[in-house]
Parts: sequence; C-alpha cells; structure tokens
Amino acid sequence: MTGVDAGLCATCRHVRVVENRRGSRFYLCRRSELDPSFVRYPRLPVAQCRGYERDAWKTRST
Ligand code: SF4
Repeated sequence: MTGVDAGLCATCRHVRVVENRRGSRFYLCRRSELDPSFVRYPRLPVAQCRGYERDAWKTRST
C-alpha cells in the first residue's frame, strides 16, 4: 500500500480495493451496497466501525 493508512478497512472482509491508472487506491465499502448507513468510500483511516469483520487472509501492509 502506498501512502494512505486505511485503518480497519485494510483488513476488513467487506472492503474492495479499487486502483486507478495513476496508482491511487480507493477503499470501497461493500456493506454500503446493502446498507445505506455505510459510506461507499469511507474517510480513511477508519478507526472504529460497527460493520468491521476481520478477513483472516488480509494483513496490514503499512
Ligand atoms: S465495514 Fe467498516 S471497516 Fe469494513 S470496509 Fe466498510 S467501512 Fe471499512
């Protein structure tokens, strides 16, 4: 990961990392697709989140 500390989103099973052609990364919260109380692109870093569920396959890289 370059630059941005995503906080909880970095290891959440509900995130989808989107990268544009310039190499910028965006963290899309897939919970927002079913629950509008979640922001589609949360402000980072996310320190607390009621929807967080750790994905055992993801590790923080920053
Ligand atoms: S549920 Fe919370 S921690 Fe998980 S991706 Fe969405 S905003 Fe990030």
